[in-house]
Amino acid sequence: MARGCGVVRGAGGAVGARREGAALGGRRAFCGARGRVRGCARVAPPRASGGDGARVIATLPGDGIGPEIMNVAVKVLETVAEGEGVSLRFEEHAIGGDAIDKTGKPLPEETLEACKASDQVLLAAIGGYKWDNLSSKDRPEGGLLQLRAGLDCFANLRPATLQDELLEGSPLKPEVIKGVDIMIVRELVGGIYFGEPRGFKDADGDRAGYNTMVYKKSEVERIARVAFEIAKARKGNLVSVDKANVLEVSQLWRQTVADAFEADGCEADGLSLSNMYVDNCAMQLCTNPSQFDVILTGNIFGDILSDQASVITGSLGMLPSASVSSPGKPGIYEPVHGSAPDIAGQDKANPLGMVLSAAMMCRYGLNEPEMADIIEDAVKSVLAKGYRTGDLMGASPAGAELTQVSCSQMGELLLETIAEEEIMVSFMPK
Ligand code: NAD
Repeated sequence: MARGCGVVRGAGGAVGARREGAALGGRRAFCGARGRVRGCARVAPPRASGGDGARVIATLPGDGIGPEIMNVAVKVLETVAEGEGVSLRFEEHAIGGDAIDKTGKPLPEETLEACKASDQVLLAAIGGYKWDNLSSKDRPEGGLLQLRAGLDCFANLRPATLQDELLEGSPLKPEVIKGVDIMIVRELVGGIYFGEPRGFKDADGDRAGYNTMVYKKSEVERIARVAFEIAKARKGNLVSVDKANVLEVSQLWRQTVADAFEADGCEADGLSLSNMYVDNCAMQLCTNPSQFDVILTGNIFGDILSDQASVITGSLGMLPSASVSSPGKPGIYEPVHGSAPDIAGQDKANPLGMVLSAAMMCRYGLNEPEMADIIEDAVKSVLAKGYRTGDLMGASPAGAELTQVSCSQMGELLLETIAEEEIMVSFMPK
């Protein structure tokens, strides 16, 4: 199933003129949501896999609330792409329980091949009670792991960005977390979760379980280079997190990151690099999280730190993520939460984590930072006006005037906000 949208870039004079205005930073002057216009990260340079010059987005709605939140994200992307003169085509495929029902497999061959051939993959959520009795390899979750492996997504990007309007939703004090905007870059396919040997054995009449934490230089270099590109698109402050005071694997990690930083001339690009032990980082995330910009770390440390950092920002329904591969290959952009079967089909889901994942796709996958800025600003603006899905009602200051909205209403509000801003920008001096 394919949905076309947008105007091919440069095709219309009006579209071209508006893009120029946005690139000059005028848009930010109007909405004032960000201090600076962020640059492009070359994590995945744009391809155009559609024969007509359109970039193809493989959409995988999956299960539970997946189709509801995907619907909102696609409408937002269509609207912003059209306004910015970017040509996108959406092609929907089955994954998870939906795919099991249709084909017997959580990741049909056809879906994997379509994702490989696409420019980027947008995934909502998979799983549900209906498939809970299947063996672990046949369950919907298996489809997600197979997709990540099939696309060789070795880097996981998890932002923890606090929306000021949701300050009260955090378990930390408002004065500690104000302004938190962290990106955690986690190595996803190596380290202790995959290292060999692993298993159980008898040890001197006792029983032992063991795993191996191992990283090759080449694995560290490729994830470090993703972090460098991300840092270039942000404030430029990179902290590499390890346990080099105890672990040899961390000593290799630290040296390799430093060597790659120097070899790539990152300092001349305005980046700074420092190192932090993982235990200290866990503490600093609670006591002074706003010191961080980009955190680069391995698989197990990233797993723990990214969950810790995400809690700072309050609500599960707000959190986007990306799993990316080598430049030029498609990445997977998806909210952190699951398929929320308890509220599926009731139009109650919060679509903002999904919408912010679409913004990440624009920034890091499609190299369209203006589109990402517009989407992120629209989310901020709708929250600032007091609109909340049910899950966010408790995360707001006592006495604040709030309006509870459904998933689809939140989508409509985003579209209205984007349209209002387009009108303001069109009045800007060219
Ligand atoms: P969940 O994230 O689906 O839900 C946890 C709680 O948060 C629920 O109360 C749910 O209603 C709420 N919630 C989650 N997202 C929400 C949103 N966008 N708006 C409003 N409320 C939201 O986690 P779970 O209940 O542990 O798992 C449910 C299913 O999702 C399981 O089958 C699990 O395997 C699967 N899962 C999938 C993914 C994924 O697709 N990446 C991730 C986690 C869990």
